[in-house]
Amino acid sequence: MTEQKPGNVQVQRMENTALENNCTAVLSIADTVRTTLGPKGLDKLLVDELGNRFITNDGATIMLSIKTIHPVAKLVVEIADRQEAKAGDGTTTAVILAAEMIKEGKRLIADMGIHPTLIVRGIELGIQRSIELFKQMAVKINMKDARLAQVISTAAGSRMDGNQVVSLVSEALNILKNPKGKKGMVNLKKSIFLINKPGLEDMVFDGIVIQRQLFDQQIPDRLDNVKAILLKMDLKEIKESWIKEMRNYDEIVRMKESQTKMTKEISDSICMTGADIVFITSAHTDDLLLSNLLEKNILLIHVSNEELLNIANALDIQVARRKEDMGKISMGTLKSVCYDEESGLLFFENHAQRKMVTIIIGGVTKVTSQERWRAVKDGISAAQSALNDGIVAGGGAAELCISEKLKEENLNGGVDSIGIEVVAHALSSIMRQILTNAGFNGFEKMTEIRNKSGEYGIDISTGKEEDMFEAGVIDSAGIKINALKSAAEIVKAVLRIDRILIASSPHNAVVGNPVNETDPKI
Ligand code: ADP
Ligand code: MG
Repeated sequence: MTEQKPGNVQVQRMENTALENNCTAVLSIADTVRTTLGPKGLDKLLVDELGNRFITNDGATIMLSIKTIHPVAKLVVEIADRQEAKAGDGTTTAVILAAEMIKEGKRLIADMGIHPTLIVRGIELGIQRSIELFKQMAVKINMKDARLAQVISTAAGSRMDGNQVVSLVSEALNILKNPKGKKGMVNLKKSIFLINKPGLEDMVFDGIVIQRQLFDQQIPDRLDNVKAILLKMDLKEIKESWIKEMRNYDEIVRMKESQTKMTKEISDSICMTGADIVFITSAHTDDLLLSNLLEKNILLIHVSNEELLNIANALDIQVARRKEDMGKISMGTLKSVCYDEESGLLFFENHAQRKMVTIIIGGVTKVTSQERWRAVKDGISAAQSALNDGIVAGGGAAELCISEKLKEENLNGGVDSIGIEVVAHALSSIMRQILTNAGFNGFEKMTEIRNKSGEYGIDISTGKEEDMFEAGVIDSAGIKINALKSAAEIVKAVLRIDRILIASSPHNAVVGNPVNETDPKI
């Protein structure tokens, strides 16, 4: 086609240059995290501008920490960020899947001259079919199923002893009476609160723990049967600077009077509720309000919006936003409140409602504590997803099986078969990478199990084939599905971009020479 119209040759070359650059950008990011996949993945040493160093093999942490300037590389990081926020795990898997599809897609476009639209359509169909197959393959489990612990341990990977993660998360699950939220879906991320505190022992607390240094209040070591209310109000005190700005003396007096009146009304209405503790989000509070409440032995604790939401969830009560609400909202009861001055932790123990539980993750150093925190977070995400979406064989076995099925269904060819083949190729790369990272020849090992059922994989210690379910290497289907969806998003975008244009403002794009405009530096 390009030969008939010589004018098109240049366009074709430019299109490929943009694709070439974008592909290089995606592969650079993927190659950075590729070697971390699986429990035998290698670690990366991250060093920031201030010389702070930390070692991790968590794909999400690495991707979010490295500096990228290429727009497409930034897109990969964004997708990784979204996968992390939505599924809480599977970030490296998503990026490797995307990179493999883009690499193969680029080869077909650049070397074989196939139109991107055709490939993208096939990829879309391949992804849709893979998601259907993952759903069909997923085995439903409940809280009592022994395989839940194996999912948690598989997700914790090498970052922490799997048994420790399992015991912390299982203890937390035992405390929660009913972790099912709206529409019957389990929402553990909302009900298990995680804190990392180097120097402490790991522990699971039946309630909420917040980190707070309390300097100016006389807090008793322990209070029992405490009634609490929650306030989200702005209780700004009058600042000196405001007074200085006001020239009019009467105005200052009026302002002071109205502030004193309002503070008195608020403290009266708090006292009327009979609460022992007030959790409040306002950053500043009037000294008068503080002393009024202290006089009545009412404790005022400043919390962040997130903490307030967690406490509201734990106590199952509403938040008062106006003074008038205080008479209407219900109070929550806490079995006890304790303050540990040494660690600066405030412990609020659950009463009857066991809707929140806190896992405190210790560790010898800040770095190890953070890495252990990530392992527990991944375990919780995997457990939640497994309870909601079911489980599949881990170690890349489920992906390999779906890859084989796609190829089988694709045998009769058709226009979309090229794109579907791209998806099949990417899916098989997960096991290959896990095996390569464990020191095996991934290609060779996989030929031994290609024709077995979906549960077969390779033991990464012995190199022998084994049933992944029996070996206890189990993944949640939801995280796999999410990784595929995240990967699809970036693949479709990258393969369709034929030029990168410099926009002087978001709505004012200027067409330039694409050969010079992309910067493959990462
Ligand atoms: P991601 O960021 O994608 O979660 P991980 O480094 O956590 O990447 O690796 C997850 C992959 O490692 C999953 O496919 C999981 O099944 C696999 N995996 C975990 N434990 C084992 C194991 N013991 N043997 C083989 N594969 C494992
Ligand atoms: Mg993981």
